[in-house]
Amino acid sequence: MSKNTRTILIFLGSLIILGALLSTVNVEQPKEIDMATLATRVESGEVKRVVIRGPKLEVTFQDDSTAAVTKESTESFSELLKNYGVSPERARAVQTEVKERTGAAYWAGLILPNLIPIVLLFVLMWLLLRQVQGQNTRAMSFGQSTAREMPKGAKDRIAFKDVAGAKEAKEELHEVVDFLKSPEKFKKLGAKIPKGVLLMGSPGTGKTLLARAVAGEANVPFFHISGSEFVEMFVGVGASRVRDLFTKAKKSAPCIVFIDEIDAVGRQRGSGLGGSHDEREQTLNQILVEMDGFEPNLGVIVLAATNRPDVLDPALLRPGRFDRRIVLDMPDINDREAILHIHAKKKPFAKNVDLRRLAERTPGFSGADLANLMNEAAILAARQNKHEISMNHLLDSIEKVMLGPERRSHVMTDEERKVTATHETGHALIAHLLPHTDPVQKVSIISRGRAAGYTIKTPLEDRHMKNREEYVEELAVMMGGYAAESVFFNDVTPGASNDMREATKLARRMVTQWGMSDALGPRTYGEQEDLIFLGREIHENRDYSEKTAEKIDAEIDRLISDALETAKRILETHRDRVNGVVQKLLVSETLEREQWLETVGLPPANEKNVLTRKEEKLEPKKEEAA
Ligand code: ADP
Ligand code: MG
Ligand code: ZN
Repeated sequence: MSKNTRTILIFLGSLIILGALLSTVNVEQPKEIDMATLATRVESGEVKRVVIRGPKLEVTFQDDSTAAVTKESTESFSELLKNYGVSPERARAVQTEVKERTGAAYWAGLILPNLIPIVLLFVLMWLLLRQVQGQNTRAMSFGQSTAREMPKGAKDRIAFKDVAGAKEAKEELHEVVDFLKSPEKFKKLGAKIPKGVLLMGSPGTGKTLLARAVAGEANVPFFHISGSEFVEMFVGVGASRVRDLFTKAKKSAPCIVFIDEIDAVGRQRGSGLGGSHDEREQTLNQILVEMDGFEPNLGVIVLAATNRPDVLDPALLRPGRFDRRIVLDMPDINDREAILHIHAKKKPFAKNVDLRRLAERTPGFSGADLANLMNEAAILAARQNKHEISMNHLLDSIEKVMLGPERRSHVMTDEERKVTATHETGHALIAHLLPHTDPVQKVSIISRGRAAGYTIKTPLEDRHMKNREEYVEELAVMMGGYAAESVFFNDVTPGASNDMREATKLARRMVTQWGMSDALGPRTYGEQEDLIFLGREIHENRDYSEKTAEKIDAEIDRLISDALETAKRILETHRDRVNGVVQKLLVSETLEREQWLETVGLPPANEKNVLTRKEEKLEPKKEEAA
């Protein structure tokens, strides 16, 4: 219900109540009698007093009850009594009083009943009119920016200390804060402060958080808008919003304008499909114009964030615009620990909780994932009516964040359970027995998200690059599930389709992007161009011949079939071990690292994977309360 409908409803409601009140007032009026009755009662001496207001007589009897009489106006009251044959003495005994009929009350009584409906009508019309106008003004404000302003000194301000890790980024931004705090220092030396700072990084690495921290540290107004908010259905709206935003910002300088997800408007121009890109181009142009338009030392600093710097229009990155670029990396193990500590505040933890160990178990997690992990653990503990969060809650939440919630209700037949157990054991054993893979942390046949089962391997250290040999082994691990199904069941299930897709993607990249195939040599094949529409790589610019395409396919095939061969060979050699693990999995569903090592009975081939850390035993896991 809109605000206006509500006003009208309230108005109509009060109208009804008013009407009801007026009608009760009417009930209290004295009862009407006719002239003849009055004459009889005067004759019998029952009347004490009569007040005459024009044709209206207000009668008070001896017992103080009252009545009203309307007489024909031509004759006076005493005349009338005489006509009705009342004796003169009786008539004289009644006190009579004549009142002016022009009293304010009289007129009010006459006019008000007619006036009220008219006034009400006017009020109603005024309200309706206002509503229509409201819509009008809303249409007019279409082009105004929808930026949310966080005023200086707002309470929920955050500071750099609320952002863990990101050391280099914070250092760079300190400069910006300094300038906003004491611009004179810079102006005196003739220094030009960058107008635009672009934060780049994967989703969840804390770009938005960091931008808010800058505003908090500098304690200046902060205008926050998301790139997609510029783009509306109507052409020109975005541009006018940009204009409006910058006008506002200039008025409150020094301040920060933060354009989140700038890739929504800042994509390379001229590559669009359909009509929407016209609007984007105009919006982008307007941003460029505004940024060129203001003096460098005016005190407006534009921060922008994106996770797709590769698609940005080069004009945005030109000097004088977003010439400062800050990259936010995925957190490394120390950052992860620090982020976990920040989000652990105000949460009660059991004594065995070791955030360092949690950081070790979460490579590839972004800051947002870690925040989510902490929250999930707290929810889990609350659902079990615990007073503190234990390590088991936290470890369970890792998988929940990674793979989605457990699906215990997903009932598998015995045959399906066996296939799933074999499949996962396949992945795990290959990972265990190849010399350059990451250690197996956990094997499970509990369905999570879309997976029937899962195997978790975590690297001992954060690594950004792997070499060819390691990728080849990774392919073998990926094919391990498929291999196990075909070795042990002579058949395969669709459960392996995701593995195959990932393996194919990896093999293709090795061949076409990373120069890891001897047959094709050290060059890249194909240029991925991305079309704004879906923001996906839906189109590949082929810069090679049909013949090369065949070679690429052949190379991919070779990598994958080699990987499959490796996996099959290992599984054939260790049939008994696989069967042992499968039996154990069918009973206990999940094998943690220690149990896995025990069941396999072989040390990992990667000697680095031998446990060096003394891992404390976790309390035995209790079933989740229903
Ligand atoms: P982005 O904008 O890069 O996608 P956000 O800044 O929105 O990511 O981060 C989402 C959430 O993740 C933040 O609100 C915060 O709770 C958490 N987070 C991310 N990075 C960090 C960090 N470095 N320190 C503390 N919390 C972080
Ligand atoms: Mg963000
Ligand atoms: Zn698999």
